[in-house]
Amino acid sequence: MKLSKMHIKTLREVPNEAEIPSHILLLRTGMIRKLVSGVYGFMPLGWRSVRKIEEIVRREMDATGAQEIHMSAVQPAELWQESGRWYAYGPELWRLKDRNGRDFCLGPTHEEIFTDIIRNDVSSYRQLPMNLYQIQTKYRDEARPRFGLMRSREFIMKDAYSFDKDFEGLDESYRMMYEAYDRIFKRCGLDCRPVEADTGAIGGSNSHEFTAISEVGESEIAYCEHCSMAATTERAECVDAAPQPEVEQLPVEKVHTPGTKTIEEVAGYLNLDKSRTIKALLFVTYDEEGKENGYVAAFIRGDRELNMIKLINALGIPEHAIEFADEEKMGAATGCVGGFTGPCGLHDCTIAVDSELVGLKNLCAGANETDHHLVNVNYGRDYKGDIVTDLKVLQEGDPCPVCGAPVKHARGIEVGQVFKLGTKYSESMGAYYLDENQQKKSIVMGCYGIGVTRTLAAVVEQHHDENGIIWPMSVAPYHVIVTLVKPDDEVQAEVAENIYQQLLKAGVEVLLDDRKERPGVKFKDADLLGIPVRITVGKLAGEGKVEYKLRRDADKEEITIEEAIAKAIEIVNREK
Ligand code: ATP
Ligand code: MG
Repeated sequence: MKLSKMHIKTLREVPNEAEIPSHILLLRTGMIRKLVSGVYGFMPLGWRSVRKIEEIVRREMDATGAQEIHMSAVQPAELWQESGRWYAYGPELWRLKDRNGRDFCLGPTHEEIFTDIIRNDVSSYRQLPMNLYQIQTKYRDEARPRFGLMRSREFIMKDAYSFDKDFEGLDESYRMMYEAYDRIFKRCGLDCRPVEADTGAIGGSNSHEFTAISEVGESEIAYCEHCSMAATTERAECVDAAPQPEVEQLPVEKVHTPGTKTIEEVAGYLNLDKSRTIKALLFVTYDEEGKENGYVAAFIRGDRELNMIKLINALGIPEHAIEFADEEKMGAATGCVGGFTGPCGLHDCTIAVDSELVGLKNLCAGANETDHHLVNVNYGRDYKGDIVTDLKVLQEGDPCPVCGAPVKHARGIEVGQVFKLGTKYSESMGAYYLDENQQKKSIVMGCYGIGVTRTLAAVVEQHHDENGIIWPMSVAPYHVIVTLVKPDDEVQAEVAENIYQQLLKAGVEVLLDDRKERPGVKFKDADLLGIPVRITVGKLAGEGKVEYKLRRDADKEEITIEEAIAKAIEIVNREK
């Protein structure tokens, strides 16, 4: 392609809302174009890279025996009502009505659709296992679309669904997908770490996220350098502080603690370590119609942080069905007092207690009375939980749940996730088969997603410098850029054209920058666009020499035209 003919508009000024490198660079290079918040289109260079990623995904999926299909983005509400997710998915589900008032949504994911296909098409064990996938546009009305392609409301996803006779079959399907994901992200040039993950709105038992390590990532992961433990902090289990069976329970005492509303204040006032206090967090929950249907008081040790995902999992409700309570309203109903809430004497609410509190003795908690706390509070004697489970966040430095070494934290971009769904959808939607003995059995499912457009952003996050993108060959929109310094110079123009033609003939994807621009502008643009190989045709063209440079390296070399062509072909074939 000749740049003079290409529809490309690079930007000098980037909108303020672009905060992270991938968003800024994809806009500056003109690869993506914003339509409205969280909705982007792809211009020629951007679309080429998207298609490269899709092709890598497709090849690796096909190699596992998975079969590509293509389903509609428009999905009837009835299927979502059957699975129970019309409610559970909440406001992220992009709902619409047709002219007759029938409810639909734009698919954020396709478990229901694929389960529906299978329940209609599969009846015998002979048809299993099977894995179907698609690369398709998804819609999620995200609360906070941001970071460009990273969290958008319309995005391209590869979603695959496996169907097996039993759980051993699922284990095998899951392993194949896990390994394919490893290869896919490696081929895209990503430094990616698989970590154990929560199953979220998708459901099921077991899951891994593939996380591209990056400071701007929204996923926080906890990992251990001494063993293989790696999990999202949402999911990571915590080790409870050792119980204190030998410590004698002292009598409860009410103490005056004026104005000490926070853990810091009360711990400071009573000269206690924060770990000797109990922190309260107050919530209200909502039913399927969006009406308030109860209060929840969660209690954790004062120096801990509440893990919201663990709390909603313990309550068995979706994330959108809970929010912080109005303390006054909740106080009237349950007896709590904002800033002075403790577990003793609360009524008419669900009391959720972090498991660690059970074994700790003589802690300090709010007295449910303004300006007062209780000291020597003990689980069992003074209060009980309706729910007692691990509710805390695994913090950096906490002991690893597997080996006890101090845990580390890192940030990353979730580019893919694999789930063992089990029979969640086959049972709610009736997807059965007859086994060898004519027995009716539930089909056992897995599902596997890759954010194709988010992967593009993640690649840019991991491959850029202050001058622009540094594409890995595998996903670069073009492999080589031939920079023609002076288009008016006949010798230079002819040499450039000759190189361009020879590379094209060799199957190299090549851009010829034949624009009538100053050389400085061309070099800047070449760096910004990040094409892996640059061949510059300038003053030395008459002597049969050009400049050869890799975008990722600082050094350039002056070599003969033939050498440059041969080198370019060689590196492209090796790395593409
Ligand atoms: P997140 O936790 O980031 O919201 P998710 O866990 O809800 O993502 P999945 O349901 O696992 O997402 O979707 C599969 C993949 O689709 C994700 O791993 C991610 O790469 C991509 N994806 C999900 N939401 C978005 C989005 N809003 N914009 C771009 N890609 C997305
Ligand atoms: Mg996910």
